[in-house]
Amino acid sequence: MAGPPGIGARPAGNGSREAAHHGLPAHEVLLLLETDAERGLDHGTVTARRERFGANVLPPANDGGLLRKILRQFNNPLIYVLLAAAAVTMVLGEYLDSGVILAVVLINTLVGLVQEVRAEAALDALRSMVHTPATVIRNGERREVPSEDLVPGDLVLVEAGNKIPADLRLVRLAGLKVDESALTGESDPVAKDPVALPPGTPVADRRNMAYSGTLVTAGTGAGVAVATGGETELGEIHRLMGSVQSLATPLTQKLARFSMTLTVAILALAAVAFAAGVARGQPAALTFTAAVALAVGAIPEGLPAAVTVTLAIGVRRMARRRAVVRRLPVVETLGSTTVICSDKTGTFTENQMTVRALWTPAGRYEVTGSGYGPEGAIRPAGGPAADMLREHRHDEALRWSLLAGAACNDSTVVREDGAWVAKGDPTEAAMLVSAGKGGVDGQVFLADAPRTGTLAFTSERQYMATIHGRADAGAIVLAKGSVERILDLCGSQLDAAGREIPLQRTEVLAEAHRLARTGLRVLATAMVQLPDGLPGTLSDARLRGRLSLTGLQAMQDPPRQAAAAAVAACHQAGVAVKMITGDHLGTAVSIASAVGLAASRETGTALTGADIDALSPAKLPAAVEKANVFARVSPEQKLRLIGALQERGHVAAMTGDGVNDAPALRQANVGIAMGRSGTEVAKEAADIVLTDDDFATIEAAVEEGRNVFDNLTKFIVWTLPTNMGEGLVILAAILLGTTLPILPTQILWINMTTAVALGLMLAFEPKEPGLMSRPPRDPARPLLTWALTLRILLVSALLVGGTWWIFGLELAAGASVAEARTAAVNLFVAVELFYLFSCRSFTRSAWRIGFFSNRWIILGVLVQAAGQLAITYAPAMNGLFHTAPITADAWLRILGIAALASVVVGAEKLLRRNRY
Ligand code: ADP
Ligand code: MG
Repeated sequence: MAGPPGIGARPAGNGSREAAHHGLPAHEVLLLLETDAERGLDHGTVTARRERFGANVLPPANDGGLLRKILRQFNNPLIYVLLAAAAVTMVLGEYLDSGVILAVVLINTLVGLVQEVRAEAALDALRSMVHTPATVIRNGERREVPSEDLVPGDLVLVEAGNKIPADLRLVRLAGLKVDESALTGESDPVAKDPVALPPGTPVADRRNMAYSGTLVTAGTGAGVAVATGGETELGEIHRLMGSVQSLATPLTQKLARFSMTLTVAILALAAVAFAAGVARGQPAALTFTAAVALAVGAIPEGLPAAVTVTLAIGVRRMARRRAVVRRLPVVETLGSTTVICSDKTGTFTENQMTVRALWTPAGRYEVTGSGYGPEGAIRPAGGPAADMLREHRHDEALRWSLLAGAACNDSTVVREDGAWVAKGDPTEAAMLVSAGKGGVDGQVFLADAPRTGTLAFTSERQYMATIHGRADAGAIVLAKGSVERILDLCGSQLDAAGREIPLQRTEVLAEAHRLARTGLRVLATAMVQLPDGLPGTLSDARLRGRLSLTGLQAMQDPPRQAAAAAVAACHQAGVAVKMITGDHLGTAVSIASAVGLAASRETGTALTGADIDALSPAKLPAAVEKANVFARVSPEQKLRLIGALQERGHVAAMTGDGVNDAPALRQANVGIAMGRSGTEVAKEAADIVLTDDDFATIEAAVEEGRNVFDNLTKFIVWTLPTNMGEGLVILAAILLGTTLPILPTQILWINMTTAVALGLMLAFEPKEPGLMSRPPRDPARPLLTWALTLRILLVSALLVGGTWWIFGLELAAGASVAEARTAAVNLFVAVELFYLFSCRSFTRSAWRIGFFSNRWIILGVLVQAAGQLAITYAPAMNGLFHTAPITADAWLRILGIAALASVVVGAEKLLRRNRY
């Protein structure tokens, strides 16, 4: 192999080079991979290695390939029956029939195969809609690249919330913990450590490695990519086991079981009918054919496939509305969702933060300008302080507050296509901008006092602190976060001259509340100068009581335009909406009212995390059900909220974005992650990812979920009478010992053509107008209610009666048996076709829906009609299917009877009106 040893290729087994990665000190690994711990690779090397090692993607899963898929199609009782029938007809010398039956087997296999491949492709396409970025250092510069672009030797930076993008040998880290359950099945996060290990250490114990596909739950780290794509451990597992995306859901499984039971019953019935027929002295060969016809007709073979296709179409529609489904079963659950618990920030709001107001112990200020652009200024606002402080630059506390906003900050604001956009946390970007407007430049400060430590923001901690070292003046700690938590850290506050004065806790809280009530998101800032530095590392305990409050920054985050309408739509649909946020109660209540959620603490419709903790487990569920807004809630409390709602029988959807939201996302019936602002950990735990983070998208997904269920039910209600009708027609013929009105091959024709040309088109049916004004579906409610079962029985009876009637009529009119059968087949299809229009809506008549509102149905009807003409008049088809051309009179009778049948169905629907 060209190139230095150790680069890229994954050594086989426990070979010496594999030992090299975890068994060597970090600097030797770097050397081996010709990369640098600070600068990473240079661009030339990246390009060359990308060429050589390819994209960092997993090779296609080993699902046994096409052959396995084809064989899977054969594993189906219907196929067994058909093969048996083909064999028997062959023995009987009916080669034409055997040919037709075998052709049907082939077509059936092909259709099944295409459907499966297409459904899989649809799901695969979804995965590529959710991107995984990776942070690397190349040419000494930190940059974000798609994880596909990683090459061996790349220096990769990871932090809490990331998915590890390649197999990394860690070179340095801070508190890095990784959830390796994807690889080892062990769900407790593993603490990492970059020191070299003995060569024989098994994968699960290699603490200096971070493996592709595992999830960072805490800390940060840097590692050099030692393997990418299929060469990773994950790639190896993938290759060995394959990871076929399962198309099964609880519903498809239930239906598969249902049709299997039915199949067994029908086969038994066919056997009994055959025995009875023979016992009564009917010729065995003929009776056998009839028994096969019975089985072929009555088995609802298309059902599971149709369900999968309908689900897949639903998934595609959801993706088009920016809800990417990660687990297929959720499509069903969405339709019965009774409560949506959603984040405030970014979901109900735009996540476009602009600081509007500032407060310091010395004065109130307002900030002009909008968005993340630098235009705007800070000027004193109403109140006595304004008179004293004509110029904000005289307020030292303000200067420190702005500095905390600027330097205790990991975001940037950049100009893209002429617009200023925030990179990183919008809350932080807004504070960067406010600092700029006040003339405070974080970079100047950092040049003098570089950051030497960080206490990262987490939803539990609710603040962020940084420590800055200065050669001459010890250290400076800057902090920003929720008012309550920052106050906990403060022992004093700053006055306009920058002196520490006693902390006015109540006043600060009152001021924060005043700002929050108007819907502003309020953060407090604090600082402390430590001439002797901070003993030990930055921690909550070491900061407590030592900081001085410098001020409050209040930012606007406008509610999303579509949010109010979406909330209203949910309410109309009987779906409760609850806002869950880490933000201040006042802010949350104000935004809630802007989107149409009534909430106040007094009425118990708004609760805080503390309120939740104070409630007894017995009282919690009812209180949670009543409240619309939950403020200052921690991820752990989110989990309890979900549990409480489920205890009340709710089917709950919950959004989340952080690492710690993962348990709540898993616990929720529908876990929803934010595609833009969410961490990989949250996305991995979720059932659905919103690519636009918008609340309205959740509502859209619920709507689509309901529609999927509707269309499934419609298909089943349409298809079952066909099977029952066919089965009963044949059963009657066998038991009565009369000529079969429809032959087995003709039944095959009916089943194959109508299922595809007519039935499947129901999956494209647009939503019913009342879809979002009825209550959520009760998951315990059977798919087929009594009303629908009765309708199925009625239509089956009409099919049986009509078929016998036309068969008799034609024979009486002097037609041959072949002609009478042809008429019977056409009648059967005609009734199904009319009935299809009735099935488009449960309640509205075919006329009310409008015949052209689903173009697919029109197309299907035309195709089916052409098929009927072909089987009736094309000589070749006549030969294959034992049919014969029929007269115009026969058509009139057929259409007459079919019309009569649809009048009966229409009348039944009219009588039932909304009660199905
Ligand atoms: P939410 O996303 O629901 O608004 P978070 O958990 O993100 O809730 O934030 C909770 C609180 O933590 C916020 O109200 C704010 O006071 C504070 N906060 C949010 N982001 C940051 C940050 N980047 N740095 C410091 N404090 C923050
Ligand atoms: Mg947040």
